[in-house]
Amino acid sequence: MPAAASGRGTALVTGASSGIGAATVRVLAAAGFETVAAARRLERCEELAREVGGRALRLDVTDPASVEAVAAELHEVALIVHSAGGALGLDPIAEADEEQWRTMYESNVLGLMRVTKALLPALRASGHGHVVILGSVAGVEVYEGGSGYTAAKHATRAVAETLRLELLADRIRVTEVAPGLVETEFSLVRFAGDAERAAAAYRGLEPLRAEDVADIIAFVVTRPQHVDIDYVAVKPTAQATATVVDRRE
Ligand code: NAP
Repeated sequence: MPAAASGRGTALVTGASSGIGAATVRVLAAAGFETVAAARRLERCEELAREVGGRALRLDVTDPASVEAVAAELHEVALIVHSAGGALGLDPIAEADEEQWRTMYESNVLGLMRVTKALLPALRASGHGHVVILGSVAGVEVYEGGSGYTAAKHATRAVAETLRLELLADRIRVTEVAPGLVETEFSLVRFAGDAERAAAAYRGLEPLRAEDVADIIAFVVTRPQHVDIDYVAVKPTAQATATVVDRRE
């Protein structure tokens, strides 16, 4: 069915140039949303937009002017999927890099606030808004070396829970999707392009694929309007907690 004909409205996906965000654009387009793929790497978003028949916009969620520019383009938005974010480094607090902490907080927390705040009028205008936020197992657990990221994702969770209270009277649905290990560019970014170290994160187990998470998002956003799936935790079968993982050679 052509996107516009299904009447699901416009879906803005942040972090759409890679991983979970890109896979989500594909499933949302297939589900009948008019997709807007947004991230800093515009060329990738444009390629994806061509593939699914949607739009692409450049977006840096850490830059208020960039967020405002995207908001100015979109007057009615039925769905925002906040996938922009990620981790940097795996250093203990004793060796914490302040710039990495700042960037993680900017992209995972302040970016979430900024995009939501700027797009709220457009969400309200749609009459049936839905906000989906990529949290993480790191939003409910901690692990050694992970505190810059876990602190940010715990904050992401706090923002999601607060939004659910504040948007209740608007009947805007809020869902947090919190994955465990998903094989995307996440670890490559975390380890500054060190492919060997990134691959080790997924060695000896079958990790989730971006498409596995995107399928869940598609399910969540296509429930009837009165059904709000608050929180979804999803991990590979070989993962019990953030750190307890059954690896086999
Ligand atoms: P990914 O492949 O590295 O994708 C991250 C996306 O975020 C990219 O599209 C990147 O695009 C975008 N991004 C980063 N900083 C941005 C900024 N300042 N402004 C706009 N976009 C920005 O990783 P992923 O696994 O799909 O991660 C998606 C989300 O899932 C993240 O929030 C991550 O924390 C969360 N998550 C991932 C895992 C996992 O194991 N992979 C597990 C739990 C949660 P540009 O660089 O082009 O801007």
